[in-house]
Amino acid sequence: MSASDLALPPDVLIRLPAGRPLLLIVDDQPSNIQVLYAIFKIDHDVCMATSGADALAFCLARQPDLILLDVVMPDMDGYAVCRELKNNPLTSHIAVIFVTGQNDPLVEARGLDEGGVDFISKPFHERVVRARVRTHLILKWQTDELRVKQLELRQRQAELEAVHDASPLALFHIDIWGGCTYVNRAYEQMSGMVDGAALGLGWRRQMDPDEVALLLATCSGLTNAQQHYDGTHRFRHIDGGTVVAQVRVAPIVIDDVVTGYVGTAEDVTERRAADAALAANEKRLRVLTDSIPALICYIGIEEQFQFCNIHYERLLGLHPEKILGKTLLQVYGDDAYAEMAPHVAAVLAGNSVSYERSLRIDEREWYLQSEYVPDLGQDGQVLGFYAMVTDVTQRRVAEKNLAAGERRLRTITDNLPVAISYMDTSQRFHFANPTLYAWTGTTPETVLGKSLLEVMGPDLYEERRVHLERALAGERVDFTTTSTMVGQEHHLQSIYLPDMAADGQVKGVYTLSNDITVLKKTEHDLRRLAREDSLTGLPNRAHLYDALNVVLTRNRRRGGAIAVLFLDIDHFKLVNDRFGHAIGDLVLQEFATRLTKSVRTTDLVARLAGDEFVIILEGLGATQEAHRIAEKILQLVGKPWLLNGEKLDITTSIGIAFDEACLRSGAELLSDADAALYEAKSAGRNTFRSHVY
Ligand code: GH3
Ligand code: MG
Repeated sequence: MSASDLALPPDVLIRLPAGRPLLLIVDDQPSNIQVLYAIFKIDHDVCMATSGADALAFCLARQPDLILLDVVMPDMDGYAVCRELKNNPLTSHIAVIFVTGQNDPLVEARGLDEGGVDFISKPFHERVVRARVRTHLILKWQTDELRVKQLELRQRQAELEAVHDASPLALFHIDIWGGCTYVNRAYEQMSGMVDGAALGLGWRRQMDPDEVALLLATCSGLTNAQQHYDGTHRFRHIDGGTVVAQVRVAPIVIDDVVTGYVGTAEDVTERRAADAALAANEKRLRVLTDSIPALICYIGIEEQFQFCNIHYERLLGLHPEKILGKTLLQVYGDDAYAEMAPHVAAVLAGNSVSYERSLRIDEREWYLQSEYVPDLGQDGQVLGFYAMVTDVTQRRVAEKNLAAGERRLRTITDNLPVAISYMDTSQRFHFANPTLYAWTGTTPETVLGKSLLEVMGPDLYEERRVHLERALAGERVDFTTTSTMVGQEHHLQSIYLPDMAADGQVKGVYTLSNDITVLKKTEHDLRRLAREDSLTGLPNRAHLYDALNVVLTRNRRRGGAIAVLFLDIDHFKLVNDRFGHAIGDLVLQEFATRLTKSVRTTDLVARLAGDEFVIILEGLGATQEAHRIAEKILQLVGKPWLLNGEKLDITTSIGIAFDEACLRSGAELLSDADAALYEAKSAGRNTFRSHVY
């Protein structure tokens, strides 16, 4: 036996374990054992057993790599030993080569049936024996190695499955024909398809056919490992619910050939729902903020715009792109920012802020009312702030106009010669103009907030009380009063005007009082002048006619007689001509005085026109009484006249109409008296004539 015969080929050596192979030789004949021992002892560890029982005990204890087992043995033959070994899992892997002297195929077949791997015939042929043993050792070792590898593989597979099953992501594998070959536990949970229900084509039942087609078509387009598919798909859970999953698929590429696809599916149903709810919320918020006619925005802690509603564009022409992400300074510029900076600092310090400012944009002046509310985090820190800015330009302009209007009105009321005031329903002054203060001798301090009674005193208040009460009941009241104010008598024409609210309620009363004292006097004078002769101060023609009618009526009632005396100065023209018109006037005045002195105060002396005068006498007993008065007049007129140093001779002629029962009219009486006067003139003047009825 050469060394090369003993040595194993290099390829086998590589696969051999580090230790020497352990052979067990079992034979009841020690001579047989000797031969075999001699063959293997050099490069094998060789042990021996001479009975089946010893062999089994050894195998359990030492686990030999290979047994050379004699078939024919007393007590327990080789078949029985082999059967025992194969039946015991601890020894079933040990390769058994039967040793037999019988060259019988049936014996060999029996041995193979019992689990043996080969036969060695006696007498032994060393090279055959070694070749057989070597072959089976190699086979055995390869088998062992395979078993180890299988174990390792199973171990890795189990580990991988454990990892997959622990993954919150649903994992799956699809072969190139679209059949599912693997799903993990998360997939089963997500889909509800357990116990392999998703495998094969089962997974397709979870999706719409269109989505399945889309997914498969997309997958089949993936041809290299760098490509992958990412999409959202809806799954029907086995319970009937819908699962929205984010699906990612990548091809498995081996030697440039796609052998299948691995994928993950992430259940994003809740995230989607949350996203949808968030989007809906945002939409609602946007609709809401856009529908409020105000600038609404959210400003971050760095003073940058994070949200703005549509009115930034509508009102200020600032498009969201010009705003979002920009800071207040960037959007508004240095000047406007400087104005808002202290308020921004205040709100970012956690305070609510409200202020108004003006802003000039594109040559237009804006008045903006700003409300800042801090956005506080859970632990109270400021995250930013909400700003609501209302355009109050119209209101401000209106207020300005109103103020200007009020100023104008104030100027007017301050300078009107009319006392103006406003009182509330409790009759307290809210307003009074300077005219009122001047007339009543009061000041704003003594009037405003005080009641009418307090300001006017009880007497003046009483004059106005009823009117004020009527005005407070909703009626416009016009009235005149004559009141003594600050020691002077005033005639006042007043209007009390109720201040009615939209609902018809009276809120107060405006008072306007016009001082008509001068007017009253003028009216009185005018009325007097209309009935009085301006030169002599005697009643004039109009007054005479009225008076004559009154006298007639009165005397008709009580049955008295009256006389109408018609007087005309004799040759008066000559007076004018000689002494001038002024002296003529003085004559007329003196003539009037002398006539008045000639009669009773109850008798009426009137100047009719020019140098014509009329006297009405009433309560006369007889004509003579009238004559006597005429004579008295003639006598008195006949007395010397000295006017402006001029001595004059003045006489008069008198015509008398005497009516005992007052049966004639005033016009008739005057006409009769005129006729009598004519007679007196004709009789030579400075005398009287009378007509009696
Ligand atoms: P007889 O005796 O016929 O009455 O003559 P007589 O000159 O008086 O004539 P008559 O009465 O017709 O003239 C009246 C004059 O009185 C005419 C007019 O110039 C004058 N006269 C009329 N009114 C006034 C007046 O207000 N002042 C003055 N100074 N003269 C007047
Ligand atoms: Mg005359």
